[in-house]
Amino acid sequence: MTKLTSEQRRTLEHRLTERRAELVRKVRTATDFAKTENITKVAGEVGDPGDESMAAQLVDLNLTEVQNELRELRAIEAAFSRLADDTYGRCTECGCEIPYARLDAYPTAERCTECQARHERVYGGRDVTPSL
Ligand SMILES: [Zn+2]
Repeated sequence: MTKLTSEQRRTLEHRLTERRAELVRKVRTATDFAKTENITKVAGEVGDPGDESMAAQLVDLNLTEVQNELRELRAIEAAFSRLADDTYGRCTECGCEIPYARLDAYPTAERCTECQARHERVYGGRDVTPSL
C-alpha cells in the first residue's frame, strides 16, 4: 500500500479540522445547556414524579451524546498528533499503510481494516473507528 499523497493528507487534515470545530461547538452548546437546565432546576419545576424521571432521561441522553462527542474529539486530537509526528495513515499495530478509502471514510482510523477487526473481536467494538 502506498503512502498518502500530500494532497490526500491535506484533504483529510482539512476534514479533521472542520469536524473538530463542529464537535467543539456542539460540546460547548451541550455544556451551556447543562449549566442552565440542570436536573435539580428541571425537576424542581415539575411536581409529577413521572416528569422528573423524564427530565433525568433527557439529561442522561444529553450526557451520552456529549460523551460520544468528547470521545470523537480525543480521536481527532490523536489523529492530529499522528499528523504532527508523521505517523498518520500508518497502522498503529502492524505498521502498514492504511488504504486511503478507509481514511476517507474514517479520518481518525488508527488501524488497518484487519487490525481493527481483530481489535474489535478482542475489545468488543467500542472504538470510534469501526472497520469498513
Ligand atoms: Zn494493521
